[in-house]
Amino acid sequence: MSTYADIVFATAVRQPFTYSLPADLLEKAQVGKRVWVPLQKHKAIGMIVNIHNKEPEFNTRNVQQVLDEKPVLSQEMLQLTRWIYRFYYCGWGEAIQAALPLGLNFYAEKYLRAVTEAVPDYLDDHEKEIIEEITGQSSYQLKEAQKRWGDKVIDKLVGQKLLEIREEPVTKMDPRTDKLWSWTDKLSVKEIHEFISEHKESDKFYKWIQALELLTELGLPEFQKELTTHELLEHYTLQRIAKEELIEAKEVEANNISLKLDHDPTQINTLNDEQLDAFAEIESALDRDAFANFLLFGVTGSGKTEVYIHALKKALEQGKGGLVLVPEIGLTPQIVKRFYTIFGDEIAVLHSRLTNRERYDAWRALQKGEKRIAIGARSAVFAPIQNLGIIIIDEEHDSSYKQEDPAPRYHGRDVAIMRAHINDAVAVMGSATPSMVTLHGAKKEKSTLLTLTERPFEASMPEVEVLDLKQYRSAMKGPVTIPLFEATKEAVERGEQAIFLYNRRGFSSYIQCETCGDIPECPNCSVSLTFHKSKKQLRCHYCGYSQYQPRHCRECGNESVVPQGSGTQQLEEEVADLFPNAETLRMDFDTTSGKDAHANILKAFGRKEADILVGTQIVGKGLDFPDVTVVGVIDADTELAFPSFRSGERMYQLLSQVAGRSGRAGKAGKVYFQTWQPDHPAIQAAQEHDFKSFARQELAYRKMLQYPPYSRIIRFAFKGKKEWLVQKVAEAFTESLITTLGKSEAVLGPSPAAIAKMQNHYRWETFIKISPDNGATAIERLVDATFDHYDQHKPKGASSIRINVNVDALE
Ligand code: ADP
Ligand code: ZN
Repeated sequence: MSTYADIVFATAVRQPFTYSLPADLLEKAQVGKRVWVPLQKHKAIGMIVNIHNKEPEFNTRNVQQVLDEKPVLSQEMLQLTRWIYRFYYCGWGEAIQAALPLGLNFYAEKYLRAVTEAVPDYLDDHEKEIIEEITGQSSYQLKEAQKRWGDKVIDKLVGQKLLEIREEPVTKMDPRTDKLWSWTDKLSVKEIHEFISEHKESDKFYKWIQALELLTELGLPEFQKELTTHELLEHYTLQRIAKEELIEAKEVEANNISLKLDHDPTQINTLNDEQLDAFAEIESALDRDAFANFLLFGVTGSGKTEVYIHALKKALEQGKGGLVLVPEIGLTPQIVKRFYTIFGDEIAVLHSRLTNRERYDAWRALQKGEKRIAIGARSAVFAPIQNLGIIIIDEEHDSSYKQEDPAPRYHGRDVAIMRAHINDAVAVMGSATPSMVTLHGAKKEKSTLLTLTERPFEASMPEVEVLDLKQYRSAMKGPVTIPLFEATKEAVERGEQAIFLYNRRGFSSYIQCETCGDIPECPNCSVSLTFHKSKKQLRCHYCGYSQYQPRHCRECGNESVVPQGSGTQQLEEEVADLFPNAETLRMDFDTTSGKDAHANILKAFGRKEADILVGTQIVGKGLDFPDVTVVGVIDADTELAFPSFRSGERMYQLLSQVAGRSGRAGKAGKVYFQTWQPDHPAIQAAQEHDFKSFARQELAYRKMLQYPPYSRIIRFAFKGKKEWLVQKVAEAFTESLITTLGKSEAVLGPSPAAIAKMQNHYRWETFIKISPDNGATAIERLVDATFDHYDQHKPKGASSIRINVNVDALE
């Protein structure tokens, strides 16, 4: 009798591969451990998901090595990833890949080795040189060789069997450290101040002394990474001060936040009555040790975070662990600090800037139970918290919870809820603007609604003025209406700040009438049409409807229809011209591509290095600036131009977030919406801060058109280099979908994707709407059956076209 292991790899292949376990590995092999096995012509790292005695009908190959001493994937994660790969229809290995930190990942490095020492004569000198060079080394990284000599010649030499590719698992990690600067004891604080003022009076107020002054204001110790966000504090300036022996640096691990934050559990606030009511429900669910799901609904500033903190504290008292999920952009130092103050070193912060080493260390600390709380964005949903008791999903409506690419295309919130289920834990979703799906779920008692209605420290919400762009057409200063212009000018003169928000997506283009503001819509789908410049066409990317670019506006008949979709850069320049005495800062996808760029811009604005911040919708999130008294949304309704049935919801979320943030610290703030559609329900509801009325209208609209939450949408995306073949595959697959579903009404498409060509790959897509009650089993059965049918009917050459499945692509 022999024993077999079912092994999965980080690929889209959905069936596990069966291998034999040689006698000497039988004891060591265990579910949840990684192995090194032959795969096709190479070797690869895989994960054991099952061990059994069922002899397969084919010849099996041997597991070569068991890589882990202990399982790296717990039973819980095995169960969770199993649900993910079935529900989101991807490879189990892909789901596991997402669930493990990089340091433990399915990662192999490729090396080159010379097969023969005798260099054949038929090679040219260049090739001979390469062989000789590689022969001289025991191994040579493939990547390095390709970089140095180019792919082509390396491929050729491998093809001629003169070089051989060998793979080895990588387990090493490089720690990341940063300089932590602190004061020396050469001078006292007082003496430093005296030193600075002496120079200030003289003409010797050098840059490094100015920098020194800034350091006294900022306070040390502080990480170099933080300090150098200030213009004055460049690396060499710090070195210059260090030369005077006033400050010194030591290398420490960069994620060691405890060096800097204060831990003081007594600072926990006493909850008010409303918060207590909400907390009591969560508390009793925790006491029951059973799954429960809550929606904590309350405007920004209503004290949701305080409720989270109390709930976490309760869970810890019960000996349980907790997970806090926040949107990527919401993972700010302020929020971490609030949790840190109460829970101190119990917390592991998992953010995207961690190095492999840091992530691995955080992971291990959680796994060993040294830390019991994890805070992080989407992927932290997999953090190996022991005895998990509570999961908090803040801003549950945020679209950054959905992973688009690569697979698994999971929704962090829904995975979190499943994880709570598996652990008999409590899930708490929080939002001021719940997604329609979550709201509807609460109505159907899938979750319990808890509401906070007041703001503990603020009497009222900021006043919102809606400015009709049709009316102000002749009263504009550049992109800004006169009332917003005046308000901004006055605010800047008073030393206050303003934010201008362009709700504009760089990539989506559409056409709009300059006279009446109309944006053409699809007659079948109630979404705006996308403008395809090269073909002068308007297209619906849901149903494929198309028409030629009209010359006349369908509403007012004027010949004033123009393509839209310009950049924030130009708008920033216009704003800078309008307010010559104000400093402006810009934040959009261009300026925020760097790792810390986003945070740095916000920090600079917070330090009042600029008077006006101009940005896209990413500015709308995580804003809490006490001196901002004017917020202007320059084009409040362009979200509606984005071809999605969710545009209304997104627009409301954005506007209400903006409206909710301004003037938080007590100064009267005012918010301006410039819009072509002052009567749009989302604009009106946001002006009134009336989520319920918005939700009522939005749900009615969704129901009428059978959009989520009244359906579940699956997107099938087709991608390839030959446009005609992509289309053919999309059509064949769509036929298979119709056959499998037994009806065509629920199938939308195929049609070109909104971005029809990306990196020279053509993209088509088909959507299906199925009942929202369909779970993993139904989805798996449906998609499996579709692929089976498609495999019988696919066109020639179809294997070059990638087909991606995205479950709950839109909700
Ligand atoms: P939300 O998470 O809903 O945006 P927060 O929890 O951040 O709201 O609360 C807003 C502000 O009010 C915070 O500064 C918070 O510390 C304070 N706060 C909320 N509830 C209380 C309370 N019960 N006692 C004292 N301060 C509170
Ligand atoms: Zn359509």
